[in-house]
Amino acid sequence: MQTSILIIYTGGTIGMKQDPASGLLKPFDFNQILSEVPELAKFGCHLDTYSFQPLIDSSDVRPEFWIHLAHFIRDRYDDYDGFVILHGTDTMAYSASMLSFMLEGLTKCVVLTGSQLPIGMLRTDGRENFISAIEIASARDAEGHSLVPEVCIYFENKLMRGNRTTKFHADNFAAFSSPNYPPLAEVGIHIRYNEPAILRPDWSSRLRLHDRLDANVGLLKIFPGMTEQYVKSVLHTEGLRAVVLETFGAGNAPALPWFLEAIGECTASGIPVVNVTQCRAGSVNMGTYANGAVLDACHVISGGDMMTEAALTKLFVLLGESSDPEVIAEKFGESFCGEISLK
Ligand code: ASP
Repeated sequence: MQTSILIIYTGGTIGMKQDPASGLLKPFDFNQILSEVPELAKFGCHLDTYSFQPLIDSSDVRPEFWIHLAHFIRDRYDDYDGFVILHGTDTMAYSASMLSFMLEGLTKCVVLTGSQLPIGMLRTDGRENFISAIEIASARDAEGHSLVPEVCIYFENKLMRGNRTTKFHADNFAAFSSPNYPPLAEVGIHIRYNEPAILRPDWSSRLRLHDRLDANVGLLKIFPGMTEQYVKSVLHTEGLRAVVLETFGAGNAPALPWFLEAIGECTASGIPVVNVTQCRAGSVNMGTYANGAVLDACHVISGGDMMTEAALTKLFVLLGESSDPEVIAEKFGESFCGEISLK
């Protein structure tokens, strides 16, 4: 049977055009994208397209957008074999992480892609990204199962697990990296799937949506010289329910008494604090240095090798579903869909 793919256009540079009045890039309509990629007619699969309204620069992504997108996929899940989401690059890693947590039991491929140059431009990276994303979303094995039943990002010849990515370059075509997990596929003359790295779901599982998100999460990146007033203004935010602490190296922080006291007060009052590294790659290990052990003593939770984007969005989902800090702490350390390496 012919494979069916749903293409969802949400905005982003791929479909932007220069506004003649201001000279600024603004989202443009979907038909323009399609007319720039006549190759779409050559695909051996059935393609349907849907354009979100309004189209957004992904800097405007908010939890409501994720809920809308996840519902949209859920409502059409049985009608398609795979999904391609055209999305701005700025927050693509957040959206891919979030969707991976919201769409539990996924057995189909959901690929997010976009571009650094609008698709109407001569040297655009959008055309190749778009075409390869469709090819990957529609790829299946001999039994008809998706080759990549995951939420992923395809960009500049690499398919990456969505919740392992980060946008690391503002203007290079290779805008995303997955520093702590190998690519799921590499695209050259052939598409080489890295099968051992790809999740194998229970094919009989049904999609279960997690759509209760709570964004009362703080993100505190520590730096030498940070003031007590600054740290406390974050930790004392009204309604705060969890904190992602971006620490130095393998999860280290200054052993300043006021700082540790503030973190300890947070965890003692039922606000989980999770520790992720502000390094570009690698993992937190609070047992390496005395300056990491002090955080451990404050009951800070290790985020292991999770990316900040994944840690934040995972907390949105966990906080939306539980008010018990112990449950949140326990679940945070589990791997839901390959976002963290477990020892
Ligand atoms: N500002 C754009 C966006 O994220 C950038 C891009 O798509 O590359 O929507």
